[in-house]
Amino acid sequence: MKTTKKPKTSVLLPSHVTPIRYNLTLKPDLENFTFWGKEVIDIMIDKDIKEITLHSKDIDIETAQAGVQFATKIYYDTKAETTTFTFKNKISRGKIKLTLVFNGIINETLRGFYKSKYEIDGVTKHLATTQFEATDARRAFPCFDEPAQKAVFDVSLIIPGTHTAISNTLPTSIKEHEAGYKIISFAPTPKMSTYLLAFIIGDFEYVEKNAGRTLVRVYTTAGKKHQAKFALDVAIRCLEFYNKYFDIPYPLPTLDLIAIPDFESAAMENWGAITFRETALLVDENNSSLATKQWVAIVIAHEIAHQWFGNLVTMKWWTDLWLNEGFASYMENLCTDHLFPEWHVWDLYLADRYAVALRLDALANSHPVEVTVHHPDEISEIFDMVSYAKGSAVIRMLAEYLGHDTFRDGLRHYLKKHSYNNTETVQLWESFEKVSKKNVVKMMNTWTKQTGYPLISLSKKGHQYSATQERFFSSRISREKYNKGTKQLWHVPFAYETNNEILKTITTKNKVPLIGASIGKLNFEERSFVRTRYDAETILKLKQEILDCKLSVKDRLGLIRDMFALAEGGYIDTVTALDFSLAYKHETEYIVWAELASGIGKVYALFGDETYKKYALSLFSPLASRMTWEHIKGEEHSHTFLRNLAISGAGSYGDKNIIKHAQKLFKGRIKNPIRADIRSTVYAIVAQNGGQKEWNLFKNLYLKEKMHEEQERYGRALAQFRDNKNLCATLHFAISSNVRTQDAPFLIGAVWGNKYGRDLTWKFVKSNYKIILKTWGEGGHFLSRLLSPLGTHASVKDADDIKKFFKKNQAPGSARTLEQAYEKIYSNALWVSTDKVKVKKWINNNYK
Ligand SMILES: [Zn+2]
Repeated sequence: MKTTKKPKTSVLLPSHVTPIRYNLTLKPDLENFTFWGKEVIDIMIDKDIKEITLHSKDIDIETAQAGVQFATKIYYDTKAETTTFTFKNKISRGKIKLTLVFNGIINETLRGFYKSKYEIDGVTKHLATTQFEATDARRAFPCFDEPAQKAVFDVSLIIPGTHTAISNTLPTSIKEHEAGYKIISFAPTPKMSTYLLAFIIGDFEYVEKNAGRTLVRVYTTAGKKHQAKFALDVAIRCLEFYNKYFDIPYPLPTLDLIAIPDFESAAMENWGAITFRETALLVDENNSSLATKQWVAIVIAHEIAHQWFGNLVTMKWWTDLWLNEGFASYMENLCTDHLFPEWHVWDLYLADRYAVALRLDALANSHPVEVTVHHPDEISEIFDMVSYAKGSAVIRMLAEYLGHDTFRDGLRHYLKKHSYNNTETVQLWESFEKVSKKNVVKMMNTWTKQTGYPLISLSKKGHQYSATQERFFSSRISREKYNKGTKQLWHVPFAYETNNEILKTITTKNKVPLIGASIGKLNFEERSFVRTRYDAETILKLKQEILDCKLSVKDRLGLIRDMFALAEGGYIDTVTALDFSLAYKHETEYIVWAELASGIGKVYALFGDETYKKYALSLFSPLASRMTWEHIKGEEHSHTFLRNLAISGAGSYGDKNIIKHAQKLFKGRIKNPIRADIRSTVYAIVAQNGGQKEWNLFKNLYLKEKMHEEQERYGRALAQFRDNKNLCATLHFAISSNVRTQDAPFLIGAVWGNKYGRDLTWKFVKSNYKIILKTWGEGGHFLSRLLSPLGTHASVKDADDIKKFFKKNQAPGSARTLEQAYEKIYSNALWVSTDKVKVKKWINNNYK
């Protein structure tokens, strides 16, 4: 088993200097986009020194002073992102004040201290905001920019008299300053990490309400506060839920949620001042879809969970980032389920995040949840689905295994014991172990310290069933390579059904006997993070149980998901999976259909031709005809999603009636507005069957639209055309000044993910790589997100070409993404060459 190492000492600042308190004053210039700053840091020094090093990036330091002594030399190490001050005389150990005066820029990269642009009545306005996680506080002020270097912050901001400033705490004084400026001083923060500090300066409006002793406010730019009500209500209810659940009251007097027009991720959990992308916070009752509403609730629940898990107790180093993200991703569902039980978010989670984790962690080029990282580029690359989704999946497995009350008590124990401090993963397991008296450390280490997860195979000898485990790979090439090496084993809490009885067992060995004369579905309700495989006799029995509607929804979902995955990995024939899918023709549940659609779509992207569409339509068309186009009052949340899926599936595979109806709705949309829930789907069908006229229409709608959610829908439509000319125009539009930096990678990715735009996009990326690198290559997650659709290519020729290109061109923060793409492409190519003829024959025989 691989163990994680401590970060190399070279990436950590020297340990003999630690910060205690920062007194920070910044004066941003919102016309020239620069800022002036002064800070006095109380530091503790453990030994006599002549040099002090701290982090800074793109900051020009005017003067540095330790006590009364000025630095004689200031040295910038741009690679390490540090600045070292050298002093003539020795500085004695003990407490001393380090005073720095500096200048910096309010940049456009959406990291550090950056500007965001928006329009009010045709007039361009700007606001300045911060995004410090993971390592960008150093772009706003020189600091000890490591999560374990917690300190107290006293922030003062000198801003124009007309503006508002928000920071982590409430202002304690607002005084007039020279020439139309005012100085706002904020109350000291709790002891916390640099990456959680925030300040936002602009012209805002807000709604507010008290939740017990906490003032909750939701801020928007002018004219949008009516879209903030849903968020305010959700935030208050989340706060009440967590106060009780964690049994520790939220420690600040205020909690602000701020919508920012330009934002890299969905949201950022700055303590007391959470920043959001507009689409993750704002809800317009008439124009937001149910999916957006759910997303907003989930994101708010995620960020507020961080106020305890991450902010109050923080990981020691980024190796344990998953502790923050895996947990928040688990808690977001727990809390949203409590707030909106009628949404059944845990079921949706199983078809969404959980499925993503299973796919990503099936690659040899995945990484352990606990992953050693050093450089900022490596750190930003682990903000991926392994940390978020696999993290939450293994936590869900543990919660099911321990029982929910024990799980909650373990969390309380951990949060109380480590408040205002830093931890490593093992300390969380120790809390669970103490509370549950179960061997949690040993079990969970097998899930967080090694890459991948097991495939559990059922076999039968005589009357005895047994289960074996081996690591699952989606690439047959990786599997073959791996099989020559060492075998991994997991502690699997594992439930299965026999004669209507659920038996639980923990497997730690390669092979374990299972009790029961006849065994059905393994991994009961998909509780464990594994895939399953069956012998021929059992699979026939399971297929019949699906046709007879005997299995639970989650088990039906798990079976078809694993069948398609086994086909991709070469464990079974693709034809076997396609044949198995036919058992689902009467399926009624959205989450099962989501898996079916994904499996059918993936095979289509690689093998698809006109006859294949007939097979897809044999499933989607009857489903669509069973649904109404209109929303039924009081219908189930998941029914709304199923309608979309059915229409979108049938429409995209060419169901003429569906296409006609979608076009009719679109044409009549001014008189009869289309319900927000199906707008995206209708737009997509119109684009798929449209030409130049429709492209121009969507582009103009995109340009005029002020509501970000609706604008995104038009953007997605622009990516759905099926001819080179229009798709090419979409790609050029994406990198024009008409599309925000934050939105373009999604737009390019959507064209890339479109079967008809795949080769075109790669050509486009190659010839525009200089612009792409300049705009999205500044680190962060943008570039790796933009490049991830590379893995949809399916020929060795493409893989070789892509490899050659990236040998010559750098791709910062995307090393793993590229390795994953190569693994996927070679695997796709082999899959196609092995199964193409068989699939074609099966399709022709059945769907002529
Ligand atoms: Zn998070």
